[in-house]
Amino acid sequence: MTKNFLQKLCCPFDKSDLNIQVFTKKENGDIHEGLMSCPDCKRQYPIVFGVPIMAPEEYRESKSELSFYQKWQSQLNEETKKYLQLE
Ligand SMILES: [Zn+2]
Repeated sequence: MTKNFLQKLCCPFDKSDLNIQVFTKKENGDIHEGLMSCPDCKRQYPIVFGVPIMAPEEYRESKSELSFYQKWQSQLNEETKKYLQLE
C-alpha cells in the first residue's frame, strides 16, 4: 500500500478526496497501518496491514475495527473520536 496509490482513492459515497493519517510504515516506506477520513461525510476508512477497508459500515466487522481504533486512539482527532463514539 503506497502513498501514491492511496492518494488516488476517494470516498466511495461522495467522491471527496480522503485525508490520510499514517500510524505505522513498513520498512520500504509503504503504509502499514493508518486511517483515511472523508472531510465531507466524516466516514473513516482504516488501513489494516496495508489494506484499505473501504466497504460500507454495514459490511464490516465492527468488533475487529474497534480494537484497531482503540489501539490508535491517542492518534485520533476529536472529530474522528466523536464519529466513532469512542468518548
Ligand atoms: Zn465521504
